[in-house]
Amino acid sequence: MRKLLPLFALVAVVLAACATNPVTGRRSLQLVPESQMQALGLQAYQEVLAKSRVSTNARQTAIVRRVANRIAAVTHKDYDWEVKLIDSNEANAFVLPGGKIVVYTGILPICETEAGLAFVLGHEVGHAIARHGGERVSQSMVVEAGLTAADLSLRNNSQRGLIMAALGVGAQYGVMLPFSRDQESEADHMGIIYMAQAGYDPTEAPKLWQRMAARGGQQPPEFLSTHPSHATRIQRLNDLLPKALSIYKAVEPKYGLGEKL
Ligand SMILES: [Zn+2]
Repeated sequence: MRKLLPLFALVAVVLAACATNPVTGRRSLQLVPESQMQALGLQAYQEVLAKSRVSTNARQTAIVRRVANRIAAVTHKDYDWEVKLIDSNEANAFVLPGGKIVVYTGILPICETEAGLAFVLGHEVGHAIARHGGERVSQSMVVEAGLTAADLSLRNNSQRGLIMAALGVGAQYGVMLPFSRDQESEADHMGIIYMAQAGYDPTEAPKLWQRMAARGGQQPPEFLSTHPSHATRIQRLNDLLPKALSIYKAVEPKYGLGEKL
């Protein structure tokens, strides 16, 4: 009997520590308080910015800000949202727990328009709202029995790589652990719904992945080509398109494709 207690305790903690996704309804394991994940996210964001060159392109920066603001607004989540456009050839973007978003200039040509960018930002914001970073850290805590919430600090060198990776920080800042297939699919699902709610034409979502696929070569970690495959992602987005289009038809104002990037 005594031997079973820790298992009962673990089951109780896990049941108490699940969060339900507001868009997809999927439940996720969250063993770390959201406030703690947000503090870690802010710390990682500041480290990334300290090592990066923020874009001086006023027009692109203004577009990235306004699309991010519109996407953040439809989530009704009171995060301290912020987005920075970073000068880099990488076709990438990522989000940190708590709503700090980083977009690389290299992804803008693939976005083509505000609507393409709205899907990318919707996908990233989806990772934040779904608390995928917290879910990854929680899963790591279950797997790596020694890791507890108290160890979660970027100043704790022995866990630093794991934490940075779990937060989803770009490869150049640490080991990049890709989000899981389920998390990527969930972020795509949320992204197409959010872009439609924000007034952008959701038919651009599967087209964005078609352009990513056509680009070929090595994809940056957050947009891994095989995880899930482009074909699967495009198919799933096409399946969600009727729902997204009905949301888009009812929403005002509409921006359509928006400005070209
Ligand atoms: Zn993603």
